[in-house]
Parts: sequence; C-alpha cells; structure tokens
Amino acid sequence: MNTIHKPHIVIIGAGFAGLETARTLAKAPVRITLIDKNNHHLFQPLLYQIAIAGLLPSQVAYPVRTIFRRQKNLAFQMGEVTEVNLHEKFVKLNGSAIGYDYLVIAAGARTNFFGFDTLEKHGLQLKDIETAVTTRNHLLTMFEKASLEADSEKRKAMLTFIIVGGGPTGVETAGALSELVMHVMRKDYPRLNLKDARVILLEAGPALIAAYPDELRKATLHLLQEKNVDVRLNTKMQDFNGQRVTLADGTTIESQTLIWTAGAKAAELIDALDVEKASMGRVRIEPSLSLPRFPETFVIGDAAFLTNGNGQPLPMLSTVAIQQGKTAAKNILRLMKGQEPLAFHYQDPGLLATIGRNAAVARIFGISFSGFIAWVIWVFLHIYRIIGFRNRLIVMLNWAWDYFFYDNQARLITRD
Ligand SMILES: Cc1cc2nc3c(=O)[nH]c(=O)nc-3n(C[C@H](O)[C@H](O)[C@H](O)COP(=O)(O)OP(=O)(O)OC[C@H]3O[C@@H](n4cnc5c(N)ncnc54)[C@H](O)[C@@H]3O)c2cc1C
Repeated sequence: MNTIHKPHIVIIGAGFAGLETARTLAKAPVRITLIDKNNHHLFQPLLYQIAIAGLLPSQVAYPVRTIFRRQKNLAFQMGEVTEVNLHEKFVKLNGSAIGYDYLVIAAGARTNFFGFDTLEKHGLQLKDIETAVTTRNHLLTMFEKASLEADSEKRKAMLTFIIVGGGPTGVETAGALSELVMHVMRKDYPRLNLKDARVILLEAGPALIAAYPDELRKATLHLLQEKNVDVRLNTKMQDFNGQRVTLADGTTIESQTLIWTAGAKAAELIDALDVEKASMGRVRIEPSLSLPRFPETFVIGDAAFLTNGNGQPLPMLSTVAIQQGKTAAKNILRLMKGQEPLAFHYQDPGLLATIGRNAAVARIFGISFSGFIAWVIWVFLHIYRIIGFRNRLIVMLNWAWDYFFYDNQARLITRD
C-alpha cells in the first residue's frame, strides 16, 4: 500500500500511554505521528529520586527518537499541541495543522494546587524534570544556608522539610528525604547539628496511602516513623507563604520548604476540549476508550476518566496508562477492519510503594507484605521498567553504591 494512503494516526503524548499505543502499532499498516512537547519519555515514578539527589535526570528519561529509531511507520515531532479540532479532524502544532484519521490523546496530568495561589508560587512539586531539579536545588540549598546561619530558630526553620499528601509519592519522598538527612547530609555537614532537621508529612485524611489495604497503611506509618518522619494524620494545610506553613487549626510551622504531592488534574490541553469532563478535569470516555460521538478519537491514561467494574474511577497510574495504550491501539486496528471495538478491562497487577532503604509495602496476588522483601521487589521491578539497558545498569550501580556507602551521587546544586 502506498504510504500516503495508509491511515494516519496522531498520538499526543509520549508518556506511558502514548508510548504503548505507538509500540503496539509497530507492525501495523499505518502512518503514526507521535507528538510530545518534550523530546523525552519520562519515568515519573522515579522523579522523587531526582529530588532527593539519588539519580540524575538522564537516568530516568529517554529520548523518544532513540526509543523509536527502528519503528519505520512512526515519525516523532517535538512541540506542544495547542488545539484539537474533533469535527474537522486536525490538531494544531507549532502553528500548522496536522490532519488525522485516528487520534489518541495521551497528554497526562499536571499538579493540582486547588486554586491556592500562594502554594503554587512558593510550594515545590514533582511533575517533570524541571520541577524535580528545582526541588533538589532547593533542598540542597537549605543545607548550605543553614550551615551559615547563626540564629538557631532560623536554622531550624531552614532544616524543616514539609511534604503534603500521604499518597505513594508523598510517602516515598518523605522516607527518602529523611534518609538523605540522616545518612548522607550528616557526613557532608559535620558541623551542622542535624538533630534540628525535621521531615514532616501532612495528610488531611485519617490514613496514609488510602487506596492500599489497612495492614499496609499501618505498616507504612510504622516504617516512616522508624525513619524519623513526623507523620501528622488528619492535618490539613491551610496556607504556605514561603516562610511558614499554616494549618487548618491555625497553628503554624516555620519552614521554607513545602513539597506538594496532594493533587493532580488533567493536562492543560484537555481544558480546551469541548467534551464531558469528570473529577480532576479528566475526560469521560466510553469503555472502548474513545470519546462519545467521536469513535476515531481515543483519550487514555491520566487524562481519561473511566470506572472499573465496581464503579470506582481507575487510578492515575502507569499500569492503567500502559494497558489503555495497548487497548486503544488494538481498537484502532479493529475499526480499520470494520470490527466493533473491545471494552477495556483493567488487570490490576498489585500495589507497591517504597519507604526508603530496606522498606516497602506491597500487595501482589492478593497477599500483603512489607519490609525488606517488598523493597527488593520494588528495586528490581523499577530497574526492569526503566527504558534502556544503559540506564538500567547505571541506576543499578548507583543504587548499589548508595546502599553500601550511604552516598547519593547527584548532590548538585545547579542553576534553575
Ligand atoms: C511523582 C510521581 C510519581 C508517580 N509514581 C507512580 C508509581 O509509583 N506507580 C505508578 O504506576 N504510577 C505512578 N505515577 C503516575 C504515573 O506516572 C502516571 O499515571 C502516568 O505517567 C500516566 O501516563 P500518561 O501517558 O497518561 O501521562 P504521562 O506519562 O504524564 O505523559 C503525558 C505526555 O504528554 C505530553 N504532553 C502533555 N500535553 C501535551 C501537549 N499539549 N502537546 C504535546 N505533548 C503534551 C507530556 O510532555 C508527557 O510526555 C506517578 C506520577 C508522579 C507525578
């Protein structure tokens, strides 16, 4: 078939969902244009490792062009899609229109500050390489400033690190940050009294990692407390002005560091789409993952809202995004053959979260467990999932080095 007559599939987003769609279509008689505003695919579950100086950005991101070097039916374009015209079937990119036969919108999510302007201005977040590096620079700078500060109260405030949100990201960041303070910075700053340093995790609800079974929530709390994290449940943050955190009950904590992990909403591109939205601005989709009234347009991953068999919304997880990417690709092929699309069914692979060295919680094949074994599974699973043999090797060596020598390698303060 002449290339020009092959159906044109445009995929917006080279995250977990978009990448899987493109890969599944590798051998299909189609033309694929994959678009992303960045030139890399980012492994977001390890972003917190950049923030705590455990890994460098290049170890958790991979150039999209390299990933698809051998895929002949795919062309990559770097740029931000600013408009999607569902009726006339084109997207706007870098000022020009790109027409499509099938469209896959896999634009992901962004941080939700719930309208707190001061929080957005002064708070730190973990969403992309830039925000993770900014967080790392800020954390390391606090130690430098504290080492020069004579006033003990001011010093204490500089060494008070607050994380808001007791979900997996908040828990992982709090555990890892506390270990950075206890094991690594203690050696770098021998004259700084790090007994003044505090890592505080604020959670508005009554439990950490609410989506996990009760025994794992309790284990997580226990493991974090063992790592000196001050966990405060049922504690709502009211405001942060860059110098002080105010809680809902009016009490304040002097601190210059607040890492916000308590909210996400669909990507900016989704705001402009004139379709039905559900909570967090996510697009309501059909079980086939396509848009109601637009069967050739699929919305998948974090940007999409679909419920599972129990009526619960599918979580914003990489596992959901990857499985949806596969189904969207298969459904496009079915539509091309004039067949009915299949409904998406999420196969839950289990839950896993790390709380630092030797500590993680897991629920796999219906069995809950925590501690060292869960941590070993977490380490090997994440090394396996990182893209690129070289990155896998480097991350493995890095983590082994950190493990034996308590020496996070990426303690660099760079200019933002
Ligand atoms: C800090 C953090 C930790 C996490 N930890 C875990 C974990 O442990 N386990 C887990 O399963 N999940 C985890 N997640 C969630 C997981 O990363 C997401 O569910 C997953 O990335 C969603 O995949 P996606 O393809 O929908 O979106 P993404 O992976 O976010 O990809 C979206 C892509 O679209 C691009 N894009 C957006 N808008 C445009 C536009 N207008 N034009 C062009 N390109 C655009 C973006 O640049 C991005 O590359 C974590 C997320 C974060 C932020």
